[in-house]
Amino acid sequence: MAGPEIERLIQLMARLPGLGPRSARRAVLHLLKKKDALLMPLAASLREVGESIHACSTCGNLDTGNPCAICADPRRDETLLCVVEGVADLWALERSGMFRGRYHVLGGTLSALDGIGPGDLNVDSLIGRVAQGRIREVIIATNATVEGQTTAHYITDRLQSSGVTITRLAHGVPVGGELDYLDDGTLGAALKARRPL
Ligand SMILES: [Zn+2]
Repeated sequence: MAGPEIERLIQLMARLPGLGPRSARRAVLHLLKKKDALLMPLAASLREVGESIHACSTCGNLDTGNPCAICADPRRDETLLCVVEGVADLWALERSGMFRGRYHVLGGTLSALDGIGPGDLNVDSLIGRVAQGRIREVIIATNATVEGQTTAHYITDRLQSSGVTITRLAHGVPVGGELDYLDDGTLGAALKARRPL
């Protein structure tokens, strides 16, 4: 149907999340038709990012600078540290625009099933950051999954002697959510996490 270079491009695109072979083919055809407006700028951008991307040596975030833009920003509160599983979670929190502290990216969760232990995650570097003494509060924002909870407990144990305040994201009723539609687990968690008004 097409030459080997184009077929290779389609195969690579098909490996992106959310794209199958069919949609990859459509995306590539679109790129070929928009060579100057899209294909060439995309190629240049991919090369530029590809040559400069790395994990921040302080927090584990992926960025083109080291330290990353968040660690390098002097306006961000360095006494507040939010611990997340991955960069996707960091991006989600940044999209909310509600957090002005710094982050620590664990790079996954503890999982006995997958053989992932503390040594496979950025836990020691977290303990090291807290030990420097400037952090006042560590917010553990791991996912509300079994692995996420296990990881949160482990980190809490490790930080217990540091004297830092440890908090956890609340679980409960989503904004705009109706009680009748919530699953029992979410409703139970919301009830447990109730607070005085
Ligand atoms: Zn960073």
